[in-house]
Amino acid sequence: MTDVDYCVVGGGFAGLTAALRLKQAGRSVALLEARDRLGGRTFTEVRADGAWIDRGGAWIGPGQDRIYALMNEFGVPSYQQYTDGEAMMVVDGKQHRYTGTIPWTMSPWAAMNLGAVLLELGHMCKSIPLEAPWSAKNADKWDRISLAHWLDSNTLSKPAHELLETAIAGCYTSDASEVSLLFVLYQMASGGGPGFVLGVKDSAQDARPVGGMGAISGPMAAEIGDSIHLLQPVRRIRQDVDGVTVRSDEMTVRARRVIVAVPLAIASQILYEPMLPVDRSFLHQRMPSGSIFKIAAVYDEPFWRSDGLSGQSAAPGSPATITIDACTDAGRPGIMCVITEGPIARQIGQLDEPERRTAILGALVERFGDKARSPVDYIEQNWSAERYSGGGMLSHAPTGVLTQFGHALRAPCGRIHWAGTESSAVMCGWVDGAIRSGERAASEAMEYETVTVAVAGGRSTDR
Ligand SMILES: Cc1cc2nc3c(=O)[nH]c(=O)nc-3n(C[C@H](O)[C@H](O)[C@H](O)COP(=O)(O)OP(=O)(O)OC[C@H]3O[C@@H](n4cnc5c(N)ncnc54)[C@H](O)[C@@H]3O)c2cc1C
Repeated sequence: MTDVDYCVVGGGFAGLTAALRLKQAGRSVALLEARDRLGGRTFTEVRADGAWIDRGGAWIGPGQDRIYALMNEFGVPSYQQYTDGEAMMVVDGKQHRYTGTIPWTMSPWAAMNLGAVLLELGHMCKSIPLEAPWSAKNADKWDRISLAHWLDSNTLSKPAHELLETAIAGCYTSDASEVSLLFVLYQMASGGGPGFVLGVKDSAQDARPVGGMGAISGPMAAEIGDSIHLLQPVRRIRQDVDGVTVRSDEMTVRARRVIVAVPLAIASQILYEPMLPVDRSFLHQRMPSGSIFKIAAVYDEPFWRSDGLSGQSAAPGSPATITIDACTDAGRPGIMCVITEGPIARQIGQLDEPERRTAILGALVERFGDKARSPVDYIEQNWSAERYSGGGMLSHAPTGVLTQFGHALRAPCGRIHWAGTESSAVMCGWVDGAIRSGERAASEAMEYETVTVAVAGGRSTDR
């Protein structure tokens, strides 16, 4: 039996941050991680040539102050995302090269409609109280309908509709009919609005840490040290009047309190004794993650740059739905990132690996020419097939969930505190949100040290 002040379940950025802050405050910690690696939905692979590939979360942007603070703490610099040259949008099979945010060449009417809808969404986001989106003036109305429903009623141009549906629903890696409009507005508002979420420069894809996300989680893990226990999937959490007992297959940890920092749908796989309050338990059942492939096609050089392209492209319905230049700060080798989300990700998941690779590279050839046909390396990550992520990029709320169960997102259940990017009111869904949630949960757990709490029918004084 390992006896510590606090147990942390999950070694993604939320769990690592919680454990780090607890240790820095002089508390003893045991962090139990199910996988044989840390980082969770971030996963940096370093190649023999020193180039790194972020197979999960990668980009950072302005306003993400907590990840920048952590990078500062560990001396990790950032570099700007490559945005020179033209982006490309494929609409009805026709390629449109453009600069700025809106592809005006596709048809002035479609472009105006697209711009107007984004403005309206931005306006709606401003009315969302981030700490309690369920209390927004229009919360009930917006939580009754899906993103698809709203787009159907508010987007008049077919190409604009297709692009918006691909881009916005893509963030939730699901079909637009699966996601509540209120949740979309809340998640976007938590980052500053649709411009931040969908944009690149000065937005969510503005920059990257040198060395990838692993360059931040690596030194965090080193500071947490031997408090980290890999390959320990937590099966059971039992609370009693004096503390918690957390069990994996091989370890038993006794602690005052536990911070659970795993995705919502995955949190339901743990057995809680006594049972969680109904609203929290139902929340676990009602916030799924969507489907996403993230692929890196590696070339000797980023040939698209010399062809005047930024590497950023979007093609609704294509197996390579979105592309973005993912080179390191050295600019060599050329790394093209392909992201395929939602229903198409599930469809290409049915193909065997060679068929999928042919489909993806074929789509890249159509967009970037024959040089895209033969990468020197091709790395794919299917997040939907990851047992301990259950999909990506973030869990979303279908209709009715935020207004009914949203209040349970952060509320501790006795000695259990909840972290994870989905529990952050700011930058919900990003690594920055995960870090914020870890810091919040660590402070929250320590605040209870001197408070008398009622647990499981008894009363106890928490040391
Ligand atoms: C393809 C993709 C691209 C993304 N792109 C970006 C991006 O560019 N920028 C950005 O900011 N964000 C991005 N994100 C989102 C970002 O990665 C996540 O918001 C963030 O990593 C979530 O961190 P977390 O700690 O909350 O959860 P997770 O990273 O999911 O961590 C949870 C941890 O808990 C562990 N675990 C699960 N069950 C158990 C159990 N029973 N016992 C013990 N351990 C358990 C898991 O193995 C995991 O390590 C992306 C995500 C994906 C998948």
